[in-house]
Amino acid sequence: MPMAKTTPVTVARGDGIGPEIMEATLSILKGGGARLEIEEIEIGEKVYLRGNSAGIEDSAWDSLRRTKVFLKAPITTPQGGGYKSLNVTTRKAFGLYANIRPCIAYAPYIRTKHPGMDVVIVRENEEDTYSGIEHRQTHDVMQCLKLISRPGCEKIVRYAFEYARAYGRKKVTCFIKDNIMKMTDGLFHQVFDEIGAEYGEIEKEHWIVDIGAAKLADTPEAFDVIVMPNLYGDILSDVAAQIAGSVGLAGSANIGDGCAMFEAIHGSAPRRAGQNLANPSGLFLGAVQMLVHIGQADVAEKVHNAWLKTIEDGVHTYDIFKEGVSKEKVGTKEFAAAVVARIGQKPKHLKPVDYSKAPSRPLTTRPAYKRDSSKRELVGVDVFVCWPTGTMEELAKKLQPLAGDGLKLESLSNRGMKVWPDGHKETFTVDSTACRFHLSEGKGSIPHTAVVKLLEKMTQAGVEFVKTEGLYNFDGKAGFAKG
Ligand code: NAD
Repeated sequence: MPMAKTTPVTVARGDGIGPEIMEATLSILKGGGARLEIEEIEIGEKVYLRGNSAGIEDSAWDSLRRTKVFLKAPITTPQGGGYKSLNVTTRKAFGLYANIRPCIAYAPYIRTKHPGMDVVIVRENEEDTYSGIEHRQTHDVMQCLKLISRPGCEKIVRYAFEYARAYGRKKVTCFIKDNIMKMTDGLFHQVFDEIGAEYGEIEKEHWIVDIGAAKLADTPEAFDVIVMPNLYGDILSDVAAQIAGSVGLAGSANIGDGCAMFEAIHGSAPRRAGQNLANPSGLFLGAVQMLVHIGQADVAEKVHNAWLKTIEDGVHTYDIFKEGVSKEKVGTKEFAAAVVARIGQKPKHLKPVDYSKAPSRPLTTRPAYKRDSSKRELVGVDVFVCWPTGTMEELAKKLQPLAGDGLKLESLSNRGMKVWPDGHKETFTVDSTACRFHLSEGKGSIPHTAVVKLLEKMTQAGVEFVKTEGLYNFDGKAGFAKG
């Protein structure tokens, strides 16, 4: 019989408990007959401390480009500034836009208040406030830009629905805050409605993230797949993993069109390192997702069922050990050996997994992105100025005569609150004010040179501009919040 094809995979053993849980995970995969060709790379603390601010060498990028599959143990980010997050760098460099975190309860074998919980969080992984675009504008004000793009929303929302369809899940919920962020979260919501309409068999719902989070923490059984922008997903996937049993149990997949990275959701737990104590389950369950992704669903099913049987048999590491429920307290190595010894067995009480219909890589296929062809016209500008001492009346008086080219000073706002005209005297203000100049007739458009002229005049009048935001109409519809 010809040998089954092996798949090249890049492996990093990481820091802290990383090497131990990776060794345990690889031993289980090997025991299950995984067909892997492993390329090892070094990442993390040692690389950072050698002066590489990204924590990863060029040769490691070459390996990832070759294999396109990365099994990564947690790393330690050294204390102090100047170190870039390796996770954020890898996600962005390889366009790993979807973060998938199944959060499942294993009651009664692992303590949880939510025995029926079986939720998959699909988190957008590249956009939102994670773009790292931050500035100190004035003495008083720091700014972080939240960027949400239509192609970004389309990719993640379609991935969530495709995932639900592929894994036989019944409902996809969207968490957003579009009662406040009407444009950014509003776009995510709109795309959810548009793409959701293509998946008639799947139930759809959306929650405002605050009350949705409360409901998730209280009644997680009410949810199935939840898709959300980056920041909400980052926070709520940890909450979901913890209430399911433990963050130490959850694995995660970071999926892009070309590459994918698989990991545990927890960190390198340095205090537990080198003592054969750590639970390898989070990384192992990440590796199970990897096996499915690379088309080795047969092995994934075998090792995952053996793991479930081990949990059910009460063979537990210290973090999930509970007197009266657990039968045997084991170390990292012994836990892995117990799983290997059960390969071929299925759990009797926990639900066995069935990956026979699970799709491998094609989950990322989707229609080509079509940019809308609306007419984009500049109709005004918000000029952010540093105005530390004067009143808003004084600022308005200085600016009003400067507006030309059909523009009119429409309003001043401070931290998003209108302070002129008709401001409230009680409103607290800081040293950065947004000055809105808008077409006085509300029709037509202005050339970009009008903005340049305005800025010149403002500078001559002694008003310092910090930045500008163009006000654009799209087919006559305002592409900016109406203050
Ligand atoms: P952590 O997740 O490493 O550990 C928190 C605590 O959880 C530990 O002290 C331990 O008691 C427990 N724990 C975590 N994983 C466990 C496991 N597998 N088995 C048993 N117990 C486990 O979080 P932290 O202490 O905040 O961070 C430590 C380091 O990890 C930091 O340098 C941080 O930057 C890094 N980190 C890395 C990643 C990653 O590489 N993906 C993620 C988060 C944190």
